[in-house]
Amino acid sequence: MVTKTADDELLFAGDPAERPVGKQSGHPPPWRVLIVDDDPDVHTTTTFALRGTEILGRAITFLHADSAAQARDILTNDRDIAVILLDVVMEEEDSGLKLVRIIREDFGMGETRIILRTGQPGYAPEMDAIRDYDINDYKTKSELTRNKLFTALTSAVRSYRQIRTINENRRGLDLIVRASGELLALSGIRNFAAGIITQMSALLGVMPEGLICVQRPPEIELAEDGTLVIAAAGRYASLINLPIDEIGNERVFNSLNRCLDEEHHIFEADSTTLFFGSRTHRNMAAYLDAPIDIDDSSRQLLEVFCTNISIGLENTLLFSQLHDYAYFDSLTGLPNRRSLINKLDERLLGGERGRYSLALIDLDGFAETNDALGHQYGDELLKAVAERIRSILGPQCTLARLSADTFAVLGQIELLLPANLQALFRDAFVIQEQELMIASTMGIAHLVDVDGNGAEALKDAYLALRRAKTHARGEYMFFTRDMATEIRERSKLMQALRVAIERQRLFLCYQPQISLVTGQVIGLEALLRWRAEDGRLIEPSRFIPIAEHSGMIVSIGDWVLRMSCFQQAELSRHGFKNLSMAINVSVGQFRHPRFLAALQGALADSGVDPRLIELEITESMAMEEADLLAKTLDSIKGLGVRIAIDDFGTGFSSLSYLQRLQVDRLKIDRAFVAEITHSERARRIPELVIQLGHKLGLTVLAEGVEEQEQADILLQLGCEDAQGFYYARPMEPQQLIDWLRAYPVCSPDGGAPNDA
Ligand code: C2E
Ligand code: CA
Ligand code: CA
Repeated sequence: MVTKTADDELLFAGDPAERPVGKQSGHPPPWRVLIVDDDPDVHTTTTFALRGTEILGRAITFLHADSAAQARDILTNDRDIAVILLDVVMEEEDSGLKLVRIIREDFGMGETRIILRTGQPGYAPEMDAIRDYDINDYKTKSELTRNKLFTALTSAVRSYRQIRTINENRRGLDLIVRASGELLALSGIRNFAAGIITQMSALLGVMPEGLICVQRPPEIELAEDGTLVIAAAGRYASLINLPIDEIGNERVFNSLNRCLDEEHHIFEADSTTLFFGSRTHRNMAAYLDAPIDIDDSSRQLLEVFCTNISIGLENTLLFSQLHDYAYFDSLTGLPNRRSLINKLDERLLGGERGRYSLALIDLDGFAETNDALGHQYGDELLKAVAERIRSILGPQCTLARLSADTFAVLGQIELLLPANLQALFRDAFVIQEQELMIASTMGIAHLVDVDGNGAEALKDAYLALRRAKTHARGEYMFFTRDMATEIRERSKLMQALRVAIERQRLFLCYQPQISLVTGQVIGLEALLRWRAEDGRLIEPSRFIPIAEHSGMIVSIGDWVLRMSCFQQAELSRHGFKNLSMAINVSVGQFRHPRFLAALQGALADSGVDPRLIELEITESMAMEEADLLAKTLDSIKGLGVRIAIDDFGTGFSSLSYLQRLQVDRLKIDRAFVAEITHSERARRIPELVIQLGHKLGLTVLAEGVEEQEQADILLQLGCEDAQGFYYARPMEPQQLIDWLRAYPVCSPDGGAPNDA
């Protein structure tokens, strides 16, 4: 086909010279207008009328088609058209309108403006078409005088330009939004910079080639680091990490330097250098080999892009600071727990389990030193310890500080032998000109013994450390798989116990207590039972410690208290009056501020006679918590409730506490009873306990009596009461009532409480 410029030069479509590019000619590109008309006169008059004119500062180039079909062919290859002057009636009545549909729908040309022209005045295309296909104008051919044509074309070009700008901006904004999102997902300043290169190339439509990002550190660091290339692509890739003055390219160096000094973008004939400012003064500049043709709208876009990047840069810097806070201990500058875990993960994933071990070093008595000598002293001590570990174990080990006085070292097994670790503390530390010897306790885990990830490895090492602290203070302990199994079992059991409480799988059994003197039943001890889902009974000695440890004992204990009181009242209703009810109470319950109220509630609600309730506390508890106990016991005694000391003889007995506490009864631990028939010597302790009890005005009950002979000896020694399998096992309520009914010396109303 044939094209003509406004100067009537005939040119062939597709000839490169036909589309002069602004940059090359020094002028902005002309508006391209397609005339579609089957009347050759229209082509000539139109081009003639508009020859030499400029619209909005640009010339006009015409393309010509004399049928809808030909127009279609042109548009198939060339859609860079600002305006189409389109005849309505050509091959067919509505060829023009059909073409409009093709242009808008098939070719997706939404920006190009269309002016419809028709030869017949009065022939009006459907208004629907004008609206639906976004037709800019509608004119009869006779209306198209030079002036009118110019006005119509100008307004069409103007709206074409607006639409383009809006769309371009929208596309650009899309890119920017996407770019910022993608950039923020990259962590670390280097990744961020590399991301800028990619995103900028996408935005500007150039290859990610010849772009460099440079970061300028804060003034103070300048002397040290200078300005570094932190990311580069394409043929500049080899420059990464070089100081800017070593990149060996003066042009690039100058542009970057100027950009950073003057803090703005630099657009040069063959390059573009963009400035990314940051409030933290770690500014960046990106150098592109490509020049950018900057018109108003793309300049704005670029501004938005750069502002966005700067915000992202700011965030990234902030993130890396947070990263530092998150991964480093600020006192010693050592990696912290999180970064140790990361390192552990690396080692574990790297298949290096076999070669590494993790040692936790806990300073003994640090808290005391800190209190005695002051926090500043304590801080210096910690720094000195960190320094000592670092300098002796060397850089092959990863050192971290986990908590105030716990350090961790991850390194090869040979380096972390216990002897090496202990040697760290052989010499005194000199702090504030004062020598200080420090002892430490250590837990060591070989990574081969660890299942799971870094966090779990750390847990295992802690387990060993805790063991060492209780069993081997000042020494070390290795983590073993058995430790882990035990812990896992415990936590499983704890879970199961929670569920059991919910599902009411706990219940009480009652074991009778007998007077050795009269042979009568004098009371009962409530003992907790847990029936697992599979019907097995789980021993209280297994789950009570867990309940105590987890705090569940408080609610369990409250329940036991209430149940036992109600059971006592129930037995009274069955005619078994005056049977005392012994209830085991744990430290955790006692310590709980609500304990007294719970006890009072249980007593009041069940209507039981408080004098028939006896609380059993263990000897060790009585020892350790004597002060706390003394008060609580006074209040308990005030309610009329009695107190027994359980497992007596197993703890570290001291007479003074027994005198201080208002106790009613001692229970001799069954371990002593079991041996009582073995030898004279074995009787000493029970004998002593009995005498001691009597001196203090207490009654004594022997636990775990399994044979007649034991009962005989105990009676001989002066023991009043007994409890054990010889008489009865702990029983559930119904079985208990049957047992009580059948017991020879225990008819209803028959038993009498053993009043001391
Ligand atoms: P304990 O308070 O010393 O309870 C006596 C334990 O000795 C009971 O074990 C009982 O079944 C057992 N026993 C009684 N007579 C004999 C005997 O002749 N021979 C032998 N070998 N054992 C005998 P059980 O029921 O397994 O309870 C173990 C421990 O669990 C109790 O020791 C007590 O410390 C704790 N416990 C049980 N119920 C509760 C409770 O409700 N609350 C609290 N805090 N602890 C409880
Ligand atoms: Ca007991
Ligand atoms: Ca006991």
